[in-house]
Amino acid sequence: MPRDLNATLPTDLHADGDRLNTNHLLRATLLIAAALCSRGVDAQSTSADRWPFEAQIGQFAIHSDFNVAANPQFVAQLGSLQADLKKTLQIEIYPEPIHLILFEHQANYQGYMQRYFPTVPFRRALFIKRRGPGMVFAYKSDQMYVDLRHETSHALLNASLPYVPLWLDEGLAEYFESPPTGNARQHTHQATTRRKAFWRQVPTIESLEAVGDLTAMGATEYQEAWSWVHFLLHESDQSRGVLIRFLQELQAHSPPGQLSRRVATELPDWKERYLAHFQR
Ligand SMILES: [Zn+2]
Repeated sequence: MPRDLNATLPTDLHADGDRLNTNHLLRATLLIAAALCSRGVDAQSTSADRWPFEAQIGQFAIHSDFNVAANPQFVAQLGSLQADLKKTLQIEIYPEPIHLILFEHQANYQGYMQRYFPTVPFRRALFIKRRGPGMVFAYKSDQMYVDLRHETSHALLNASLPYVPLWLDEGLAEYFESPPTGNARQHTHQATTRRKAFWRQVPTIESLEAVGDLTAMGATEYQEAWSWVHFLLHESDQSRGVLIRFLQELQAHSPPGQLSRRVATELPDWKERYLAHFQR
């Protein structure tokens, strides 16, 4: 399910694909922090420029209006995400600071976003970056931990790679949003992908590469992007190697070309292998 910004934004205001002005964002963060604290009991407090709860977990600076860091599951999953990405994708994950701005109530989250980003349509969670540190916004919900793994995956990948193709960025974020202790095959996209595979429907990477912006990334494109990431990572060492080398060359600033061409060359029987993978 798309959770990212997917509406047309002013040229200086982008999210998830093309990033927001971070200086603007940091200023907005400090302003809202002051507003939140102004409701506190001690107006003279020297912590008036701080959020009620702040924590540092690895490279993540957390600013929240509730004590999210007290949740051991949250701390463990956030702390392991960098290692999960590095181990699975075999690229370096750079320790660039990433800010997480978290709200206990949807109303406060919406009020914050409407105040500082009035043209940004509502999403449960957002990753925003242009220059400087990436920032993730979310509010407490049943889906918050999934949302945070998805958006922080974007943040870590975009801190570490000079560029990530849109469809692959979403496919990887969808893949890593599953709890690390869970079985990747249990993702909600699994049943849809297997049903399509039963009817021998195989999405092409070319069609995903043709998606120009997030407005064209619908539920089908998210599911198809996830399925290609899952296929490449799990079908065989050979298929995994195709994706890993592509990402490693991206990281080395060596133009890797289109992934679709690599797959056509290195996995010429990809269609049958994709079907077999999801018909198992
Ligand atoms: Zn996303």
